[in-house]
Amino acid sequence: MNIILFGPPGAGKGTQADNLVQAFNLFKISTGDLLRKEINKKSFLGNKIKSMINTGLLVPDDIINNFIQNIVSNKSYSNRLVFDGYPRNLNQVSNLNILLKKNNQEISCVLSLKIEQDLVIKRILGRQICSSCGLIFNIFFKPSTNINHQCDPKFLKKRSDDNEKTIKNRFVTYAKETAPILNYYKKETLLYEIDGSSDISTIYQQICQIISLLDT
Ligand code: AMP
Repeated sequence: MNIILFGPPGAGKGTQADNLVQAFNLFKISTGDLLRKEINKKSFLGNKIKSMINTGLLVPDDIINNFIQNIVSNKSYSNRLVFDGYPRNLNQVSNLNILLKKNNQEISCVLSLKIEQDLVIKRILGRQICSSCGLIFNIFFKPSTNINHQCDPKFLKKRSDDNEKTIKNRFVTYAKETAPILNYYKKETLLYEIDGSSDISTIYQQICQIISLLDT
């Protein structure tokens, strides 16, 4: 089973990807996480990526596709992939199709989390990521506690692109480049739409229901 989680910034893709990984023993490919790892290395490439992310633009496809290629071709993750934040434009869709075909895999479903911009902004402004384990929390909706998180709270960080100015640009980029992908997956009859404004467990239940009906 390979799943694409789709939605605007802050829709909850990463949180639901983490849930799926735990429950179904899947592997999460978050291009955002891969890019942030490169930024943390403070490499030449990392610095270039950082300035693009902080302006709300997409990072060039060749950089992204390189990251993806290694993971999709890795046999130990075969048919166990959850894509979070990829593909993000039609060119990335084509690249993913080629890679999957080459590795005898296919997409099982595309789960689109639909949500209004106002709610999403509140979610993004409350978001925290653990720089040690990578789990995602939210000071308003899912605070880190002793029960759901084992790391020291000092590792909880805000993302540098989670500020109002960059968020607005990320929405413009999403509408222009990413949203058109939905039509493609609709035509392929892979698209399932979910109300992304519900709480985390309700959304997760709906996702599980959809997965249970898949022919995998
Ligand atoms: P995310 O963590 O998915 O919200 O991504 C954070 C930022 O990383 C985005 O706003 C983009 O600048 C960049 N990014 C993440 N995934 C991609 C992708 N598939 N293609 C291009 N840029 C990406």
